[in-house]
Amino acid sequence: MSEERALPGCDAPPVGADGILRERGQREVFCGLTGIIWLHRKIQDAFFLVVGSRTCAHLLQSAAGVMVFAEPRFGTAIIEEKDLAGLADANEELDRVVTRLLARRPDIRMLFLVGSCPSEVIKLDLSRAAQRLNQRFSPNCHVLNYSGSGIETTFTQGEDACLAALVPELAFTDETQLMIVGSLPDIVEDQLTRLLVDLGIPKVVSLPARKAGGMPAIGPNTKYLLAQPFLAETGTALDKRGAVHLPALFPFGAEGTTAWLHAAAQAFGVSEERFAQVTAAPRERARKGLALYRDKLNGKRIFFMPDSQLEVPLARFLAGELGMELVEVGTPYLHKGHLIDEIAALPAGTLVSEGQDVDKQLDRVRAARPDLTVCGLGLANPLEKEGLSTKWAIELVFSPIHGYDQAGDLAELFARPLHRRDLLRV
Ligand code: SF4
Repeated sequence: MSEERALPGCDAPPVGADGILRERGQREVFCGLTGIIWLHRKIQDAFFLVVGSRTCAHLLQSAAGVMVFAEPRFGTAIIEEKDLAGLADANEELDRVVTRLLARRPDIRMLFLVGSCPSEVIKLDLSRAAQRLNQRFSPNCHVLNYSGSGIETTFTQGEDACLAALVPELAFTDETQLMIVGSLPDIVEDQLTRLLVDLGIPKVVSLPARKAGGMPAIGPNTKYLLAQPFLAETGTALDKRGAVHLPALFPFGAEGTTAWLHAAAQAFGVSEERFAQVTAAPRERARKGLALYRDKLNGKRIFFMPDSQLEVPLARFLAGELGMELVEVGTPYLHKGHLIDEIAALPAGTLVSEGQDVDKQLDRVRAARPDLTVCGLGLANPLEKEGLSTKWAIELVFSPIHGYDQAGDLAELFARPLHRRDLLRV
């Protein structure tokens, strides 16, 4: 039985012996389909076909509605209510939709069938459907599947499920190489790759690649750095292929980026002198970028509702590099193996919570009245109405925030709502 301690206050929830508060109640997060919005931009010749309901189609359209494409690269095959006897028809219908799509769009080289949560979709075996369609359309188009269902996933887990589906398909290599794992904006990926190459690392590859045909090979001489903290399943799949994880802080802020690069430098035998030479100038740029926002953020109290799974590394960055006070750091899931260094780098006594019981957590927000609450879109408006400043967690996933050159922009994302509040007060 785990030992528990109580938080201050009469109805205070119990905290485990490891200092983590675990809650299981109602959640307020987007589902894994949301990941399609950034994944389809990253893998430029892939198509994401959601097998779902009209609700799924609405979610995608409203999340991506501002983007107008001549040839969109995601869509929804709407599966209507079907009993089990109708499943054969549903499979035939799916095959028809895919055949039509690929005939019209020969540029599609990778097709993801993305599962969702309506019961009629759950009855469909999408992995068998992907195998069947793959036999038919490979090698022109590779068909894979993963689940973005809101029952199983929070919104960043969609990317994790997608990348985990890719890993078993990667070719074998025994070449010595470093793999950056996680979907980053191209410009950020280029910056980080350049630094790693400048350190002298012989080969640097990325998962996912920008083209379906360019996915990296993998093997026992592949070492990998996670660029995102939400890639638990992907990490397990990479380990199974014999790749070696390099534990590190995540590359947020100057310190996180330095620690992340340093983990690679150590693993590849780069001298400390060379490391200092290569990182000195970008570190200085990051320092200057952060200095612009330190006064605004220093001493401000921040509360993270569990949403993007970026919460723990971002909290470490905000407390360590900008002097913010952490009221509570909530995260939907806590992968201790990947976050061990991040948790250790939080100020002593920081309350970290895993999972959610949204009403209880909102009570804690109201009691604490933090200067800034990071939360999902659905919670932001009511909190703003109560006079609390908020930051949408999803914006942090859509924005380029990794690496030295984005450190100032990342700080600015947190300073902006506080600045707006100050303007409104005047
Ligand atoms: S997958 Fe589930 S949670 Fe996501 S939009 Fe479809 S029905 Fe809603």
